[in-house]
Amino acid sequence: MLYAGVAWHSSGYEVVFSRDAGSGGAPVPSARFGPSERDALVAHLRSVADHADDELVSVVDSTNGIIDGLLMAVGLRVHRADPWSLPERPVLGSVGAADLAEAARRDLARLDRLTIDDGTLTGRVTEQLATMKRSAAAEAPLRAAGRWFTHGARDERVVALTFDDGPQPPYTGQVLDILDHYGVPATFFCVGLNALERSKDTDRMMAAGHTVANHTWSHAYLPDLTRDQLREQLARTFEVLPRIDGEPVRYFRPPYGSRSPEVVGWLGEEDVTTVTWDVDAEDWTLPSPEKIAADVLRKTEPGSVILLHDGGGDRSRTVASVPLVIEGLQERGYRFVLLDELKPAI
Ligand SMILES: [Zn+2]
Repeated sequence: MLYAGVAWHSSGYEVVFSRDAGSGGAPVPSARFGPSERDALVAHLRSVADHADDELVSVVDSTNGIIDGLLMAVGLRVHRADPWSLPERPVLGSVGAADLAEAARRDLARLDRLTIDDGTLTGRVTEQLATMKRSAAAEAPLRAAGRWFTHGARDERVVALTFDDGPQPPYTGQVLDILDHYGVPATFFCVGLNALERSKDTDRMMAAGHTVANHTWSHAYLPDLTRDQLREQLARTFEVLPRIDGEPVRYFRPPYGSRSPEVVGWLGEEDVTTVTWDVDAEDWTLPSPEKIAADVLRKTEPGSVILLHDGGGDRSRTVASVPLVIEGLQERGYRFVLLDELKPAI
């Protein structure tokens, strides 16, 4: 077996390869990629897999939630290494790529193999739901203060359309074209690593009147972070997002909606309003555009916050669903608003 550790740091990605002892095969040199060279990274791993005599296994950690979908989209095998199989992480960045490859080489059976259906948290979905449930009490004071919401008031036929995990070409531009065409505003929860070299996209969002908000730097599973790592993920992302009067917009969405009581407490100490969602068509599992739109239309109520994705994998189906979603909701008398215009739920 050939293992590729895929690490992220403040300015991009590193890939280091490792092989089972005595398995032969030519050594594969390590490689570095900038955040906007993600397609090249994926193509590189695909090419290594095509030319290797043994099977290639790519390994990410639970703070690297933006690359696995792209690797699986080209048919690569991806496993996730969790903190208990790894050395400590720096304040910003995953563990090193060599450590990731080594964790897989040592004991691949301990590392969950990811599926497109369960995504980055394959094997930890039950744990994630239980940890979220335990967080409800900690969220209550933030909800009461208007600093955490899932949807708006149910008494007006307005909805907020939100797109997560971008910007990612070509999908983000296509979504923006569609929103332009219909004159509909939306909120984009951007991943810092994606936004870093794509200010053209985030500037276009701002110029069109959309809201550009924070979705962490690397799409990390928040319960695995320390207080300092969470703070750094937020601060770095705010640094690369566009500003209004010198200040970035202070909305934040946790990747996967993930949180723990500790994480909620830490978010309470940050200058952010956390926004989750009440309508999820699970478009990242790649259903048809018609199914995505039908799901959204069935689940939407007055005040709903609708979750879709413009990044993190092949989003062509989501893009094709957006006109169906917009027209369907308009036919049902809904008006699209930004998060600022959603009246709080009481
Ligand atoms: Zn996300």
